[in-house]
This record gives sequence, structure tokens and C-alpha cells, in this order.
Amino acid sequence: MVSRHCPSCEQPVTRLSLHGVEAGQLFGRSGWKAITLSCPSCGVVLGAQIDPVALKREGVDATADEVAKKLRGR
Ligand SMILES: [Zn+2]
Repeated sequence: MVSRHCPSCEQPVTRLSLHGVEAGQLFGRSGWKAITLSCPSCGVVLGAQIDPVALKREGVDATADEVAKKLRGR
């Protein structure tokens, strides 16, 4: 069963805080806009993903393989 409590502070997680970040190689030139999903009580990052809104806004028709290649800098 999936827990709905934060693994760090153990508070119930009924909403997530979103923060924009860049995803890519550590010193890579190109990257993707991404978001982190954080616990609103303690701020620990519970997940991250490529920002689907930014992808759509940029008109990128990217497959999962294309996203992975860009993240690797190839
Ligand atoms: Zn927490």
C-alpha cells in the first residue's frame, strides 16, 4: 500500500510544492526545464520530472528516448 505520509517528517502529504529546476548534465550546455515535487511541511524533495508544461510550450515533440539523449548531452 502506498503511504501518503512524508518519509522524512511523517506528516500527511495532501499537496505538493512545485519548484522549477534545470535538468541535464552537471556541466552540460543544454538541458530541460524540470520540476521538483516537495513536501510542503519540511521541504524534502519527494520526486522530480521533466516539466510537461514547458515541453508543450516549447513545442517539443519528444519521446522518452529523445529526452534521455538530451539529458546525457548526446
Ligand atoms: Zn516532510
